[in-house]
Amino acid sequence: MAFETSTFKTIDQPNRRTGHRTVSVGDSLYLWAGNQDGLPEVHDSEEKRRITSNIQHFTPSTGQWITRGTTGTPPLGIIGYCCTAINDLLYYFGGDCGHENCYHNSITQLDTVSLQWRELEPTDATRPVMMRGHGGMMSFEHDGAHHLLMIGGKGSKPAVKLPDYKYIELPNGAWRTNEHSIYNILSKKWSNPSIIGQCLPPAGGFIIEKINNTRAVLFGGMETDDKAKETVANNIYLLEIHVSISTVFWQCIKKRNAIEQWPVGRFMYGGAIIITGSDCPMLVISGGLDKHYDTLDDCWIFNITQHSWIKLDVPHSVSKRRSHSLSVFIMSPHCVWMITVGGYAYNFSGIDQLSLIDDINVVITELVINSRGGCLVGDTFDPKEMTSEYYKKKYWHIKGVCLEHLEEYQKPRKGNTADIEQTVQALMKRLEEKEIKLQEKEKEVQAFCQKMEQKERDEAEKDQEIRKY
Ligand SMILES: [Zn+2]
Repeated sequence: MAFETSTFKTIDQPNRRTGHRTVSVGDSLYLWAGNQDGLPEVHDSEEKRRITSNIQHFTPSTGQWITRGTTGTPPLGIIGYCCTAINDLLYYFGGDCGHENCYHNSITQLDTVSLQWRELEPTDATRPVMMRGHGGMMSFEHDGAHHLLMIGGKGSKPAVKLPDYKYIELPNGAWRTNEHSIYNILSKKWSNPSIIGQCLPPAGGFIIEKINNTRAVLFGGMETDDKAKETVANNIYLLEIHVSISTVFWQCIKKRNAIEQWPVGRFMYGGAIIITGSDCPMLVISGGLDKHYDTLDDCWIFNITQHSWIKLDVPHSVSKRRSHSLSVFIMSPHCVWMITVGGYAYNFSGIDQLSLIDDINVVITELVINSRGGCLVGDTFDPKEMTSEYYKKKYWHIKGVCLEHLEEYQKPRKGNTADIEQTVQALMKRLEEKEIKLQEKEKEVQAFCQKMEQKERDEAEKDQEIRKY
């Protein structure tokens, strides 16, 4: 039996892919579609349907992936689609069809219990909702109904250019927009909110993550101005939905000064929100492409309350990727497991194939977080390590159920639990030390800023004196 299980596991590792999204629902992660070997570059075919009828399901407690067949008809937008979970249901919007300039504006639901697809809205080229991919989506609840809000992306020529938003044609014939589309899942009605504030320009290749029912955070992306000039951005946007007046308020947060720690601009990166229950939501991002279309190799965490970034010291296997996905599991108030799936490890100009090796296609990274927003990197697990005894023990230890239930794990290798505790304590200690250093640095920065301000004041005074003459 044990042999069969391990064979099963090897078979069920997800294959290499890019341009996909992963969604966590409770103690489960769902992975669907994306660009992958063997997927025909066609609008529709039996083979495309066969491949996209499978969904990969990961359970962190066992470290195992299981490929599950679905029923019903999966959507055709298989790359750069938007996906979000509402309870046990996953919602997919739009996406790139995988062949020349073909995009969708369909909404399809996947029930994670029955694993049945249900098309709520088919793709419709005449609908005043731009057919697009590579944008963002969040869900919100209002008046007893769940809604989906889709923002921006790249896609086909819009059937209708709505007055509130911008639509820019790109040299290759595709269009980029900052269109906002709302879909009421209960009434099946579409609407378009007004926008107020410093709204995102037409953009794609970014991530939107929901902070609470009406707020979300967005970072970076490929932005396009009115003259179709492209900028790989590193702005943070905070947006808030005011449903009663059908308006979305936008706030843009930019890097304030030269010495501030802030990630460079990027698109096609991985991102996820971390909400541990304390009042300190954080956005974690990794990799992506920079303005030279080079693959980045870094990982950052943004404190949404303090508007500050911390760079995380993760292995290259985690951060050197683009077109990958990132999701998190909240393990405890102080521990988060971040799961990175797929992506390319090379540039566009590099090797023209899915380049990540199977050994690191999926990586779990442990983040230890304190209530003040500090964060340190703990263990990293590759697919092989996810089946180890240490992995299981660590999982259950963090979940706090190691004592009675996992006695059999502890018997043969006593002392390991103590080791884990020591590691966590050591990490917390290092985190505190790092924070003291950071506070000292902050004081230096403040002193520097004060000096600069004084200098400016002096110069202004001088200017006034000069003007007197
Ligand atoms: Zn197509």
